[in-house]
Amino acid sequence: MLLALLLARQGVRVTLLEAQASFERDFRGNTLSPAALELLDELGLTDQVLALRHAKIPRFDVATAEGVVTFADFTQLPSRYPYIVMVPQSAFLQLLNEQLAMQRNAHLIMQAKVRELIVEQGVVRGVRYALGEERRELRAQLTIGADGRFSTVRKLAGIALKPSNAPIDVLWFRLPRRPCDQDEAEALFRFGHGALLALMDHGETWQIGYIVQKGGYGELRERGFPAFQDAVAEILPGLAERVRALRGWADCALLPVESSRAVRWHRPGLLLIGDAAHVMSPVGGVGITCALQDASVAATLLAAPLLAGALREANLRQVQRRREWPTRVVQAAQHFAHRQVIDGALASVGPFRMPAYLRFALRVPLLKQVPARLIGLGRVL
Ligand SMILES: Cc1cc2nc3c(=O)[nH]c(=O)nc-3n(C[C@H](O)[C@H](O)[C@H](O)COP(=O)(O)OP(=O)(O)OC[C@H]3O[C@@H](n4cnc5c(N)ncnc54)[C@H](O)[C@@H]3O)c2cc1C
Repeated sequence: MLLALLLARQGVRVTLLEAQASFERDFRGNTLSPAALELLDELGLTDQVLALRHAKIPRFDVATAEGVVTFADFTQLPSRYPYIVMVPQSAFLQLLNEQLAMQRNAHLIMQAKVRELIVEQGVVRGVRYALGEERRELRAQLTIGADGRFSTVRKLAGIALKPSNAPIDVLWFRLPRRPCDQDEAEALFRFGHGALLALMDHGETWQIGYIVQKGGYGELRERGFPAFQDAVAEILPGLAERVRALRGWADCALLPVESSRAVRWHRPGLLLIGDAAHVMSPVGGVGITCALQDASVAATLLAAPLLAGALREANLRQVQRRREWPTRVVQAAQHFAHRQVIDGALASVGPFRMPAYLRFALRVPLLKQVPARLIGLGRVL
């Protein structure tokens, strides 16, 4: 959506195909980092984002056995927006959609499912897609696969994924939110005995992610729903009554977590961006920022050759070159967090103890800025 908007604003004709009928996204990421807010500011959109109902998170605090530890302090970042904004993805997408609708040379088709690539002499020339019962064809100078982690475009292009390790899954559910829930609004992450939970403010409701070891959902179910409710209520005593009102597993949705990278983000006439090029784990809430940064770089590098009708694969290679390393660094940091923090939290029998070296590093002035820079800016330097 952002890339379509950026290209259309520069005069490129764009058609955006979206498989779903609406922008409602159940249990999806809702975080916009300082880097994302600055990028949106360049488009004059940040004020509109901040006019949406949102919550500002100045730091990620972790409750450990040794007390509350600040894992990432965004207030120290060199940014006009030194905080994470939590805004429902549907509202953010709707805002981008309204902007896109103002562009005469942009066209959005909902419920359009890409099914095939049109390939002529080894060059991708567009796609065939299903619109209800109809089959349609769309020809284009460039086809961009921005279709997420299960990317059809990537599979159709025969581009392989290099998996990295993401040893967790997330079980999502919702609880009603009440105006008196002030304590809950304070921290995003809560550790319990062998459990980790992310709590997101969605206005009328709390969206809650209960993190389990990969494959651990079966074991959780075997222990029964009341045992699960007890574990959640222990971490969120203020919401215990509402936790007990959950009816069963049907009120929860399991989202398997993955992390991987496409070996190549392009082939002639085709480019992958966002999760289609690099599936991001939810750790740190950086996937949306990475996808927006890909879009911004792609628009900067591709608008001129597209307008001139002179796009080459070398232009697409440049996009991968600019974006691959920042993505690899962020994924390596997510991997580190999986291994050093989340694994430990999920394996602990008592309250979570952060490794001593990590506690030390989080007190060293230069080192302690690293998590905030990675999450907030998508880079270390
Ligand atoms: C459980 C979980 C929680 C997460 N939480 C966060 C978080 O809090 N913050 C964060 O920054 N990141 C989070 N992430 C990661 C984040 O969701 C992704 O990195 C981000 O959404 C990637 O954006 P994207 O535009 O590339 O893909 P997506 O957001 O997945 O969008 C892809 C779009 O393509 C459409 N599409 C798919 N197939 C087709 C087709 N064949 N034809 C047409 N359209 C199609 C889809 O309907 C969708 O609208 C989370 C991920 C998971 C799994």
